[in-house]
Amino acid sequence: MDLPFLDVRAINARHADELKAAAARVIDSGWYVLGPEVEAFEREFAQWCGLPHAVGVGNGLDALSLILRAYKSLGRLADGDEVIVPGNTFIASFLAITQSGLVPVAVEPELSTFNLDPARVEAAIGPRTRAIMPVHLYGQLADMHALTAIAHRHELLVIEDAAQAHGATWSGRRAGAFGDAAAFSFFPAKNLGALGDGGAVVTADAELAGRVAALRNYGSLEKYRHLYQGVNSRLDEMQAAMLRVKLPYVDADVARRRAIARRYLAAIHHPDILVPTLHSDERHAWHLFVVRSARRDALQAHLLAQGIHSQVHYPVAPYRQPAYAVADAVSLPLTERLHDEVLSLPIGPTLGDEAVERVIAACMSFGAPA
Ligand SMILES: *Cc1c(COP(=O)(O)O)cnc(C)c1O
Repeated sequence: MDLPFLDVRAINARHADELKAAAARVIDSGWYVLGPEVEAFEREFAQWCGLPHAVGVGNGLDALSLILRAYKSLGRLADGDEVIVPGNTFIASFLAITQSGLVPVAVEPELSTFNLDPARVEAAIGPRTRAIMPVHLYGQLADMHALTAIAHRHELLVIEDAAQAHGATWSGRRAGAFGDAAAFSFFPAKNLGALGDGGAVVTADAELAGRVAALRNYGSLEKYRHLYQGVNSRLDEMQAAMLRVKLPYVDADVARRRAIARRYLAAIHHPDILVPTLHSDERHAWHLFVVRSARRDALQAHLLAQGIHSQVHYPVAPYRQPAYAVADAVSLPLTERLHDEVLSLPIGPTLGDEAVERVIAACMSFGAPA
């Protein structure tokens, strides 16, 4: 029997009655864009993050780029300014920067966390550097204490890409609450997923939140009065209603992910499979459980032969993609090695103990090279 990488249908099936009731509420309300559901979700999500402001937007990429556009609109960033970003991230982090007329400066990660290496960040700061965009990759918080200290010393903005990190905490503080602003994605497969696209910007900065709220809606806070050249990127009422149903369950879902990760870490011992380093239980929300292997493609084929679906996050660095062919000059050996070695094993809130043991047994039976 096939073991899917992530069973989104099963995740939502647990809440089917509540989701259908919420959908009916929206359908019957006759209000579908920027209404009471979005307002309520923004309040509830901000409170859950421990922050005063959340602004619902169309998706995670727009959440990132609207933060950057808002800072430009407020005069805190300008065309050509540099933003430090990890080389081994999803392309959205890069796209948000280049779409906003800014310049991504890719920096190597720490091998033990897959996240930005603070020492390398400091070395990459130049006269045009204005911001750092840490990505809490695979659900694990980057070293926000070191990174915010560096940002403070160099007067840089810190914009968290928290698209994979709903539920990760450090000393009780949640992902999204460390930087000047943070972007979340509610793509269906994320730790908090809508039933379609969605995203949010969270911040303690009322002025920034207000500017993002205007920019997402044609640069307008008041009908037909356009203060800025905005975009159309709004979280819709239906997705906000779905997210309001699911938000109360995120912490329990992350607890299940942590239990699975602990079991994988305890049981997978194989000379060709390097399991991730556990730094702290709370710091990791285990959006993905990523192992490394010099024989990654063979391992993936071995798992698939037993019906176990795994994925590669990600096979090619953003700056090596055809979309960024101009960045040929960039060479990051650690990042590029990671892209050849990483493999994400199944993990998710509905993955049962039996499935977990099946994944472990399949990893342990990975043979020696032929
Ligand atoms: C998913 C993701 C995004 C983008 O989110 P979308 O909602 O798909 O636009 C951005 N950054 C990272 C690290 C992601 O994983």
